[in-house]
Amino acid sequence: MNTIVAIVGRPNVGKSTLFNRLIQRRDAIVDSVSGVTRDRHYGKSDWNGKNFSVIDTGGYAVGSDDIFEEEIRKQVDLAIEESDIIVFVVDVTEGITPMDTEVANLLRKVKKPVFMAVNKVDNAMREDDAFEFYNLGLGEYHTISSINGSGTGDLLDAIAKIIPEDQEDEKDELPRFAVVGRPNAGKSSFINALIGVERNIVTNIAGTTRDSIDTKYNRFGFDFNLVDTAGIRRKAKVKEDLEFYSVMRAVRTIEHCDVAIVMIDATRGFEGQDQSIFWLAEKNKKGVVILINKWDLVEKETNTMKAYEAMVRKEIAPFSDVPIIFTSVLTKQRIFKAIETAVTVFENRKKRIATSKLNETMLEVVKQNPPPAWKGKYVKIKYCMQLPTITPQFVFFCNLPQYVRDPYKRFIENKLREIYDFKGVPVIIHFRQK
Ligand code: GDP
Ligand code: GDP
Repeated sequence: MNTIVAIVGRPNVGKSTLFNRLIQRRDAIVDSVSGVTRDRHYGKSDWNGKNFSVIDTGGYAVGSDDIFEEEIRKQVDLAIEESDIIVFVVDVTEGITPMDTEVANLLRKVKKPVFMAVNKVDNAMREDDAFEFYNLGLGEYHTISSINGSGTGDLLDAIAKIIPEDQEDEKDELPRFAVVGRPNAGKSSFINALIGVERNIVTNIAGTTRDSIDTKYNRFGFDFNLVDTAGIRRKAKVKEDLEFYSVMRAVRTIEHCDVAIVMIDATRGFEGQDQSIFWLAEKNKKGVVILINKWDLVEKETNTMKAYEAMVRKEIAPFSDVPIIFTSVLTKQRIFKAIETAVTVFENRKKRIATSKLNETMLEVVKQNPPPAWKGKYVKIKYCMQLPTITPQFVFFCNLPQYVRDPYKRFIENKLREIYDFKGVPVIIHFRQK
């Protein structure tokens, strides 16, 4: 289960700067998800062995003070609903502003842990200026400088301390599917169609965190869990911010799933937000199935489906080895196929290739197509193996890993896909010294 840390505060206090610092660590994932007001950022981080996601809930375009306050309230509401830990950033050079007081008032009522970070404390002299922030009634604060990094390590230590240890991956072997997509794509209709009559619901299992709920289904001869978050049930309080809300929801559900069923409204095309959600799944190394829904509404000529599919594949390159299924939830067209495919992707993601077999096939591929010489150096690949990881990862041992270029890595990945079928699954390939 991944803990979500939200950064809130009024504009210009340094939220984005802090965000960048927090996620700069290994394997950072940065994603801009466009909300109504401006880009929000989502990233992954780890500190002292604890993994967590960070969301910068964004600043707001210039407007009247009224709009500002309204926006800030929404931002804080969202953070309260959708995150586990809140970092409230204030600016020592400006002191307490009325808007800080207002945010503090909202945060004092929150049951979740709140860390106040007094930012722009770039030098020791400013430490003393930070005292006034005690007046906000939030207790202890951390003085930090997001620009030069001082104090941010201590802040991270404090945050990491309250993040639970990563749970062992659940023993439950049932596939965990998440249905994600922009509002109105047809997700609820799809889920309802899957559920069919009530008796197909086996159980509601509360997830390991309070806001993740798995519902076990037995449908079309498959057993699977639909991953959902409590947020879905609690109707969007913040209707105006529906788009952003849906992305936050997608962040959560994707993190808890094995396979993300990304649903797109065929009449709208594969838009920015669809792409954000797709890449969210890819970067989290989840299986992916794309459903082009409402296919009943599209006027068709001979090549419409092919052309549509080609368009989507182009958008998702280089990770284009993903199943794309044209559905109509309304007429129940290919609903079964969708689930069947998701199960296949789940199996592909679990696939383990025996080392002997892998070497037999891949060393032959390498022999036929050795890595091109680079700067006069010849790379010799000696052997390879799959790592015992949740998502497929392969390591190729060679003499000069630094000389293996991206096109060759892609070639190897494509061959692996061709031979072993990893459709719908992100595959990671490492070259290591041996
Ligand atoms: P946001 O609107 O809250 O996301 O704020 P930004 O991260 O965009 O920062 C607003 C301004 O404050 C930028 O000009 C930053 O360079 C500056 N800033 C951010 N953190 C620090 C800091 O620790 N010290 C100083 N001196 N400036 C900072
Ligand atoms: P959600 O916001 O993604 O959960 O979308 P809903 O399931 O609420 O669907 C939004 C609207 O699209 C509803 O009016 C549905 O009846 C309609 N809808 C969903 N799937 C289809 C479909 O395959 N074809 C057509 N014509 N309409 C659909």
